[in-house]
Amino acid sequence: MKAELIAVGTELLLGQIVNSNAQYLSRQCAAIGVDVYFQTVVGDNPDRLKQALAIAESRAELIICTGGLGPTLDDLTKDVLAERLGRALVVDQPAMDKMTKFFAERNVVMVASNTRQAMTLEGSVSLTNDTGLAIGTAVTQDGKSYILLPGPPKEMIPMFRDYALPWIRSIMTDELPLFSKMLKFAGIGESNLEHALLDLIQEQTDPTIAPYAKEGEVTIRLTSRAATEDEAFSKMEPVKAKIVSRVGEYLYAEEDVTIEEVIFRKLKDNKKTLAVAESCTGGLLSDLLTAIPGSSTVFKGGVVSYSNELKAAFLGVPAELLEGVEAPGAVSSETALAMAQGLLERAETDYAVSITGVAGPDPSEGKPVGLVYFGVASMNAQAEVIEARFNGSRETIKLKAAKSALYYLWKQLKA
Ligand code: ATP
Repeated sequence: MKAELIAVGTELLLGQIVNSNAQYLSRQCAAIGVDVYFQTVVGDNPDRLKQALAIAESRAELIICTGGLGPTLDDLTKDVLAERLGRALVVDQPAMDKMTKFFAERNVVMVASNTRQAMTLEGSVSLTNDTGLAIGTAVTQDGKSYILLPGPPKEMIPMFRDYALPWIRSIMTDELPLFSKMLKFAGIGESNLEHALLDLIQEQTDPTIAPYAKEGEVTIRLTSRAATEDEAFSKMEPVKAKIVSRVGEYLYAEEDVTIEEVIFRKLKDNKKTLAVAESCTGGLLSDLLTAIPGSSTVFKGGVVSYSNELKAAFLGVPAELLEGVEAPGAVSSETALAMAQGLLERAETDYAVSITGVAGPDPSEGKPVGLVYFGVASMNAQAEVIEARFNGSRETIKLKAAKSALYYLWKQLKA
């Protein structure tokens, strides 16, 4: 099924907001096998919206509009579509009841324009708005299907996910739906992963294998068309087994989660705690960990020991490792190990992870840009040191280093 997205809003054309709705919807459509061939942006202008609809009808079977469902006079999307399809706008009683209650509870007078948000096209399916007042609409006429969604992403996303998506699946009667499985990898770069799987990727037919990299992690999406999810997953199983046999040591999840979330769950389940000592990542690892709600149950804290003085004072790294011509220096396996062990003792956690390296753009202590050492110390296993080389900008090296530290910790946790 071919689709076109129409984002309605003059703010988008003026560059005041980014069309993030289009990004979300395109991804969702791709995941269920709906081909988005065009994305259009049009201002709050009825004539131009009519033109955009006419063009979209000439090249798509499904047209998804976002924005312009609110109470104000420039919110015209429903009116324009109603006129185009020759349908009246009618009240959706449950939505109207919800709105009346909403205003009554707040002791606010409900003005007539508000009622527009509870109107829909006659004979259409109303899409409930669980996070706002303006309802959405789904309707099929003359072989074309239309979905109208609100503009604010916090309303649009739940409405699409919970109501529009099942409706789209219900109209995709002549094609089998697409199902996807995510395989998430860490500790390996996209090109190495692709290289290891090249023949599988080149031979792919069903399921398809699509690798992509984002924020220091690599994802493989397996996608298959089938009547049911179970059938799709069993088609994926042999391909997944081949992937696991080659790069299984880097596979940390079979769902769309970050490695820090996986570590958090594991530590929480085992009632274990963690502290981190960071040099070149400057707190990024702590930031990733604290982005998880509830992280305080496992993450005790971090030390950003950027200077040699603080590596010595806060972590007890011996001066002879850091100073002097013979010393291994701040960027060394010895220092990484001492940082992790020093922190483990001081923080009294079950695990301590350290990172020290050269983020660039210039070499440091004669060590090359991208050289990073990791230490993983724990209460009941031998401490480990890992040396790695990364390339890219300063920012990229920092991110890859923080994610790799998580990978090395994860390896120890699952051992
Ligand atoms: P409201 O009831 O808030 O008026 P609406 O459905 O009429 O909602 P708009 O008035 O078009 O939607 O947009 C409201 C807000 O939603 C915008 O100010 C913007 O913050 C957000 N928004 C609208 N369209 C988009 C979009 N395509 N991508 C991201 N955000 C958007």
